Amino acid sequence: MSTNRTTLGDCPNCGGTITRAYLLIEYESAGQPAKFAECPNCRDVVHPSGE
Ligand SMILES: [Zn+2]
Repeated sequence: MSTNRTTLGDCPNCGGTITRAYLLIEYESAGQPAKFAECPNCRDVVHPSGE
């Protein structure tokens, strides 16, 4: 699978694209990498979906 390094995923709230520049924290949860980012569109802290 090829991932775009500059894109984290989509905002679950507004569907906007969240880029790496908006990444707040990256951690592992139950062996799965998880991320929190601020959506540049709705300014909410979300879990980017996608990847
Ligand atoms: Zn959003």
